[in-house]
Amino acid sequence: MKFEVTILGSSSATPVFNRNPTAQLLNCNEKCYLIDCGEGTQQQLIRFNLKSSRIDYIFISHLHGDHYFGLIGLLSSLHLNGRIKPMQIFGPPQLLEILEIQFKYSDTKLRYPLEFTAIDASQSTKIFENNDLTVRTIILNHRIPCTGFIFEQKIRQRKLIKEKAAQIPMAYYTALKKGMDVTLPDGEMLLSRDYTTDADPPRSYAYCSDTLFDESYFASIINCDTLYHEATFMHDMLDRANETHHTTALQAAEIAKVNHVKKLLIGHFSSRYKTLQMLLDEAQSVFENTELAIEGKTFQL
Ligand SMILES: [Zn+2]
Ligand SMILES: [Zn+2]
Repeated sequence: MKFEVTILGSSSATPVFNRNPTAQLLNCNEKCYLIDCGEGTQQQLIRFNLKSSRIDYIFISHLHGDHYFGLIGLLSSLHLNGRIKPMQIFGPPQLLEILEIQFKYSDTKLRYPLEFTAIDASQSTKIFENNDLTVRTIILNHRIPCTGFIFEQKIRQRKLIKEKAAQIPMAYYTALKKGMDVTLPDGEMLLSRDYTTDADPPRSYAYCSDTLFDESYFASIINCDTLYHEATFMHDMLDRANETHHTTALQAAEIAKVNHVKKLLIGHFSSRYKTLQMLLDEAQSVFENTELAIEGKTFQL
């Protein structure tokens, strides 16, 4: 099953040449989930040949502009392009008011239903679930209420061995994939283990932006497969990071290490850094399996 994320923006507060504010597109089993929507996100989707019409779920972490100033534009374009299927948005309670006032004064009556779920940023909760995954919030420590999100795949069915399955009626596939043995009318037994192999283990992706280094959210991300964590500054700017409630590259790597994650992606880079190699080097000095979450990169989760 496809489980991958494409980075649409890697910049913090202000954009710089070649770097956009934060947005990511998660694809799980061909369903598309947009995580944050900084200014220019719809342009980035076009640039990387990703169809905005396929997005059915949008998660907004907090109300700093670099995480949602692209949202009104994206929602308006979908309306102009004739969308009628619902859009589910999860975000801070005030986000709905902000959107409604923009639609009101542009006299826009959306052709499609906008289904809004207000996030409670005081405690980690499950906010979404379908057949493929669940989404829980991560309570971050920022200057305004801010939540990260952890996307956890559900345990999947066993996989049919094609050559073997071809020898039996399809009617038995469902039971065998569930791990059940089947008794045929003539008394013969079909054992699930003979016709299937173990399912791929469910994987998880945690998204943490923006936040101060704070152990209180570690329980939400421990042992996750891939962690995206903001790394706004180099560690020599620790005072500035603390002051603005952000994290350094070194701290992001420490968080990945102590929480036993398998892979770390860093992003949300300050515009003061024209190149990013030194941020990567700093993180890799503590946690080797780190990559830069930069525009256009797709990571298999
Ligand atoms: Zn930010
Ligand atoms: Zn912020």
